Amino acid sequence: MSRSEILFEQARQHIPGGVNSPVRAFRGVGGTPIFFKEAHGSQVIDEDGKSYIDYVGSWGPMILGHQHPDVITAVHKQVDLGLSFGAPTAIEITMADKVCEIVPNMELVRMVNSGTEATMSAIRLARGYTGRDKILKFEGCYHGHSDSLLVKAGSGALTLGIPNSPGVPADFAKHTLTVVYNDLDSVRAAFAEHGDDIACIIVEPVAGNMNCIPPAPGFLEGLREICDEHGTVLIFDEVMTGFRVALGGAQEYYNVKADLITLGKVIGAGMPVGAFGGKREIMEQIAPLGPVYQAGTLSGNPVAMTAGLTALSLIAQPDFHSNMAAKLTTLLDGLKERAAAAGIALRTNQVGAMFGLFFTEQEEVTNFQQVMACDSERFNRFFHGMLEEGVYLAPSSFEAGFISSAHSDEDIQKTLDAAEKVFARIA
Ligand code: PMP
Repeated sequence: MSRSEILFEQARQHIPGGVNSPVRAFRGVGGTPIFFKEAHGSQVIDEDGKSYIDYVGSWGPMILGHQHPDVITAVHKQVDLGLSFGAPTAIEITMADKVCEIVPNMELVRMVNSGTEATMSAIRLARGYTGRDKILKFEGCYHGHSDSLLVKAGSGALTLGIPNSPGVPADFAKHTLTVVYNDLDSVRAAFAEHGDDIACIIVEPVAGNMNCIPPAPGFLEGLREICDEHGTVLIFDEVMTGFRVALGGAQEYYNVKADLITLGKVIGAGMPVGAFGGKREIMEQIAPLGPVYQAGTLSGNPVAMTAGLTALSLIAQPDFHSNMAAKLTTLLDGLKERAAAAGIALRTNQVGAMFGLFFTEQEEVTNFQQVMACDSERFNRFFHGMLEEGVYLAPSSFEAGFISSAHSDEDIQKTLDAAEKVFARIA
């Protein structure tokens, strides 16, 4: 028995399903989740001491790879000064200034502790600001697990086949309209019916919770126009795309302006941090400036801020994002070549430093229906094959993959060598 198998058995005694977040349980791909004990650069190391090249990166935060020395040194220094004060600190100002400098259209920003909190708070704010109850989201997009958003959600919920969670009152869910990603007609139809009752559209500007689906040309621009016509707040959920698809996130990459932006993952460099912000006029509605309540005992935590701020300074270096993207393109081109040589139909999507792999004959994969039509059984065999070969991919065919600046050319080559062997086995 491996240590992971032993630990998983123990974990299930007092942790529901043995995990503290469902997608970790390997339900989609089958088998036992791997328990990690440490990580360095591009590598994660399991409890048996086996190393894997990591394309999960803690689901996105580890864009610099694990244990970047500057981040670790800064955190050590802050730990010696205190873990939490529950009072304002200077580092929060530096963090807010930095985020407003980097992220387009960010005029005021509030720190929270997770992506879920960021989106939940942004939606409350959009409702408070507009005085409307309805919100519009997209099938297959995931925005965290708050009640209004667990309506046909993706990510873990999708993998587990419980898109509408029990415990979410029908009275909440009825205010959430769910339409089709990359289909402006479905958005227009919802607006034709509910028009001026819709407080906000919340969208992943690159969908990363139904694998990786880029926005179709004109899709984000269309959402902007529809929101302008109806006085609806446009929220870009950049928890995944922020600081990753480009330094300034998807707004910069696609040159479309959101009213509110939610952030997470990279902004905390592995510590629990989220943020939401945007137009000053809207953000001024938040307490204590305005009547919309939002708070957090640990929000703006000094250790977390130190980690995040150090990471943001490092990723703001010239060519940081283009170098990562080029490495990822090499990886994806190599995978497609090797799959084709083995007679396997593989499609890939890439936006900056995030990617999707699809085992499918379809020409392209641009929406939820097409993702669902991919061969998830073959993905599962690929996943386990790669695991054996020392490559850790997201344990679900509905999750985007991530590369970090710590991934070397040698890592890419090793990943391709591993894939070549695995393709031969699963052909
Ligand atoms: N929004 C998006 C786009 C996400 O990908 C996620 C998490 N994967 C969330 C929100 C929720 O973030 P968290 O898990 O930190 O609550």
